[in-house]
Amino acid sequence: MTTQRILPIHVGGTIASASSDTGFKPKLSFADLLSRIDKGLAGDRLIVQAQSPFGECGIDSAGMQLSHIQKVAETVCSNYDQHDAFIVTHGTDTLAYTASMLAFMLQGIQKPVIVTGAQKTLEDKSSDVTGNLETALLAASTPNSGVWVAFNGKIIKAVRATKIDIGVDYLDAFASNLRDEITISAFQRNDHAVNRGQVETFNTEVSEALDIFSLTHTTNPAQLRRYLDNSDLKALIVLIYGMSGHREELMTVLSHWAAENQAIVIAKTHSPYGSTDLSKYELGVKALQMGILSALDMTLETIYAKTCCFINKSGGLKEFRRQFYSNICGELDESVSRKFSEKSNYWLSTS
Ligand code: ASP
Repeated sequence: MTTQRILPIHVGGTIASASSDTGFKPKLSFADLLSRIDKGLAGDRLIVQAQSPFGECGIDSAGMQLSHIQKVAETVCSNYDQHDAFIVTHGTDTLAYTASMLAFMLQGIQKPVIVTGAQKTLEDKSSDVTGNLETALLAASTPNSGVWVAFNGKIIKAVRATKIDIGVDYLDAFASNLRDEITISAFQRNDHAVNRGQVETFNTEVSEALDIFSLTHTTNPAQLRRYLDNSDLKALIVLIYGMSGHREELMTVLSHWAAENQAIVIAKTHSPYGSTDLSKYELGVKALQMGILSALDMTLETIYAKTCCFINKSGGLKEFRRQFYSNICGELDESVSRKFSEKSNYWLSTS
């Protein structure tokens, strides 16, 4: 039997941090972390020398840009053939964005990529650094291909993971928006592979022409229009309260801007759980008829990642819309999407 080779990619965050005169910052290399875990866990696996694309101790993930995520994906791609699995040690602030984006960049991947981090540094007596690292290594040693988040003893499909707790008191930082987290022991016992047998199509190209904007009671339509006119955005994800779109004057500004600029507006509820279905309420139907897209059961991180990865693909906005409502790697429930499209087609035909 050949030895399994696991490549750690050390990005940084709390898992690598320690206190300093200027606050917590990454101070630990992957080798420092590895020296703290149960050596027996390695078993017949070889945890090869880590790659640290942003310096030995990494960076705070709050400072990451899309180019950093591309670099992580490229590190997987350029080391793919020589390794059986990958773990990514990452800050929790943007972990779910990176994990989602990796899932779209590494479509059909036939090996596990396990992204982990920590809520409390190693200096803290209730630190989760070693526990999470051990969970990630155990998960990486399974045949469960695909991109996953490992945290607090649970494994979550990358495209379903959302940060739900900032971590002062709680270690449970991530949840699946389907509430279908898998315990590490169940993950080890059963077949959970995503993409099994799919063709691997790795592509790290992204568009930066998108942003997220929260619509509130006090959002001013004229200011919103000025913001959009002064931008070079091709897509705007708007956070709305529920599934009713928002005030009609704001929806009108958004839809006119989108039509005049060959751009896309996507509406997503603030709520981390449930499906944003604009076809349910009169106000939402109006937004739909104005051309606003409905996030359905995709997480905010996934919508952002999917849009970054697909908005520039050939085929224009029509093709983007088709891909947006298609399930690519488990981010969208196909039956939810089918039902929505029947209802929305009806509303669109009556407008
Ligand atoms: N600011 C840190 C980071 O995202 C927080 C963490 O890792 O929990 O890098």
